[in-house]
Amino acid sequence: MKKKILIAVTAVVVCAALITGGVFGGLVVARNNRLKTDNELTGLTGEYKNVILLIGDGMGKNHMKAGEAVYGKDFEMRTRAVMAGEAMTFSRALTGPTDSAASATALSTGVKVDNGEIARHKGENIKSNMELAVENGMATGVIAAEGVKGATPAGFSAHADDRNDLDDILATQLTSKIDLFMGGAKEYYDEHAEKIENAGYKYFTDMNDFDNSADKLWGVFEELPTDSEKSNSTAPTLAQISVAAIEYLDEKSGDNGFFLMIEESYIDKMSHNNDMDEMLAHMLAYNDTVNAVLDIAEEIGDTLVIATADHETGGLEYNGETAAALNDKMFTKTHHTKANVPYFVYSKLDGVPETLNNTQIAFICRYYITNRPAA
Ligand SMILES: [Zn+2]
Repeated sequence: MKKKILIAVTAVVVCAALITGGVFGGLVVARNNRLKTDNELTGLTGEYKNVILLIGDGMGKNHMKAGEAVYGKDFEMRTRAVMAGEAMTFSRALTGPTDSAASATALSTGVKVDNGEIARHKGENIKSNMELAVENGMATGVIAAEGVKGATPAGFSAHADDRNDLDDILATQLTSKIDLFMGGAKEYYDEHAEKIENAGYKYFTDMNDFDNSADKLWGVFEELPTDSEKSNSTAPTLAQISVAAIEYLDEKSGDNGFFLMIEESYIDKMSHNNDMDEMLAHMLAYNDTVNAVLDIAEEIGDTLVIATADHETGGLEYNGETAAALNDKMFTKTHHTKANVPYFVYSKLDGVPETLNNTQIAFICRYYITNRPAA
């Protein structure tokens, strides 16, 4: 009798293992097929002196629509675009959506990595567009509302096994030769101010100390205010630091041009919290930033501007609600989703399809960072 039970138990265990193995194998095959999606483009032509990429962390299509309901009209981010479409955001994860580290890496290097990895896969660094821009003599900058230690800015300026390896992120940023870092998280950076200054950066915490003649700049502030918070804060808005950074980089780069990444970090954070009002405030701040960047980019000329997101957060539903009817319950999740995200290009580019892989956005930036106009 006991022997029969043993045989039955063994049979069940073996079957379970086979099924699990089969399911796992199926997930690997499906993931590997996803990874075969195009990461490159053919047909891009022309040259741009400067390239600016803006990322609204966590911004899905419905975040924009809800924001526009409050704004009372379409965002300039949308109306000023010459081309628009959506980007796929999946990472190497077997199941589930990307995190901001993997999506930043995709947008910065054109390579899909596992969630958590910062421009590195299984210990191997992956060259980022920022590094390529430095090599090509362009001026470079990285801006993030929550501070440049976040996964998105790190994906553009650092290499690390994990997004939480903040020492590695800072150490690689300090040797990156990137000209400008700006954003929030003053408390964190104050502890590292000496290290930052020793690496040749002018460290400042007040926009009055923004020094256009400095060789390299590292500006940090208390949390950057949205428009409604502006009167209670001495810190600048994301739009203000972005414009100052562009003026600095344009001046510094001379004929060589610049590459700048700007992230509005809190659309994601507030969507994780299912906090509609705060999400909307940051959605408007992102549109303000894109709009201000487009104004100065037009002034400077010869500048390619792209605005997109890294992934959708919160499974936000929107069915034509008025501004007054928007509420926290329209979020259906507290985490990221696999939904495609919007992208906008403010120039006419050839050979760019309406639905892109996020790695193809990196490809576009890389194309124009590589194909330099005669200086
Ligand atoms: Zn998130």
